[in-house]
This record gives sequence, structure tokens and C-alpha cells, in this order.
Amino acid sequence: MRLLFIGPPGAGKGTQAQRVAERLGIAHVSTGDMFRAQVAAGTELGKRVEAIMKAGDYVPDEVTVAMLAERIAEPDAAAGFILDGFPRTLGQVEALDDLLGPDGLDRVVVLDVPEDELVRRLLARGRADDTEETVRTRLAVYREQTEPLVDLYSRRGIVVHVDGVGDVDEITERVLAAVDSRPGAE
Ligand code: AMP
Repeated sequence: MRLLFIGPPGAGKGTQAQRVAERLGIAHVSTGDMFRAQVAAGTELGKRVEAIMKAGDYVPDEVTVAMLAERIAEPDAAAGFILDGFPRTLGQVEALDDLLGPDGLDRVVVLDVPEDELVRRLLARGRADDTEETVRTRLAVYREQTEPLVDLYSRRGIVVHVDGVGDVDEITERVLAAVDSRPGAE
């Protein structure tokens, strides 16, 4: 099973991707987590992306795509994976199509959360890249660059929408049900 989770910053995408990957016994592949690990380890890549992440902008596609390609070639991804935070641009969709083939994803799960709830959650969690200005930038960047991907994957007939407001356990069950369902039925 190869899944992609899409949702604005603050939607709980990372939390749900982690939980659902565990339940399905597949790999959780988060480009944000991978970049944060590089920054924490002080690698060359980490130094290159640190300021970009702090500003709330996207890391250049060639950097992100190379890192992702290596990750999904690892043995634990052979049984399946949840992509969390990649692809995020139309260029990255093309790169993923090249890596997996055009029928490479089984489902795209879109976590829906209203914008004022997102801002409230993001300012409450207090991560280093979650200042008020960065939060605004990240939401704007998401709307401009990533939201178009929902339409693109909808045209492929693989999108399922899940209500991302409510109890964490309940949302996990909603996602699992949606993954099993016929796309478009949600
Ligand atoms: P996330 O944890 O997914 O919100 O990612 C945190 C930050 O990592 C983003 O704001 C970007 O700066 C960077 N990042 C993660 N994934 C990508 C991606 N697919 N393309 C570009 N930048 C990314």
C-alpha cells in the first residue's frame, strides 16, 4: 500500500501518518522529519536547509527529490509507505511519477481543517519554525503550491477527504476507513 497524506500545516498530518503507518505496518516517510534530523545533526544538507525552514519556505525540489528517492529505495519501504509532506509542488509530483510510475499511489488522503483552527493549533505547539509570521507564510505557501495537488490527484480518482477536527483516535479510525473506501465516496 502506497499512500500520500496531504494537509495544511497544523492539520495533524504528521501525527496521523505516523499512527496509520504503524497500524498498517508500512513505513512513515516524512520529508519534514528527515530535514529536521539533518539540521539537528549539523550535516551539510542540514546547514543548507535550516534558514529556508525557519523562514517557512520550501526547500528546492532537487534537494528534496534526491533525499526522498534514497529513502523510498530503503528495504523497509518495499512493503509500502505513507508519504507525509512530499510531494508538495507540481514539480515534485512529476518527480514522484518518474520514481513510481503514474499509478504508483493507491490513495491520497487529504486532512481537512478550517484555517482559524490551524492558526490556533500552530501557535499553540511552539515548534522553532512556528512563529506567527512563519505560520502565515507556511499557510500561504501551502495554498499556493500544495493545494493544486489535491485537484491533480482528484482527476486521477484516488483522493479521499477526511475531517481532521476532533479526537486524535477517532481521526485515525476515519483515515483507516477512508483508505479502505472507494475514492470519492467520502
Ligand atoms: P513539515 O514538517 O512537513 O511541515 O516540513 C517542515 C519544513 O520542511 C517545510 O516548511 C519545508 O521548509 C521543509 N520541507 C518538508 N518537506 C518538503 C518538501 N516536500 N518540499 C520542500 N520543502 C519541504
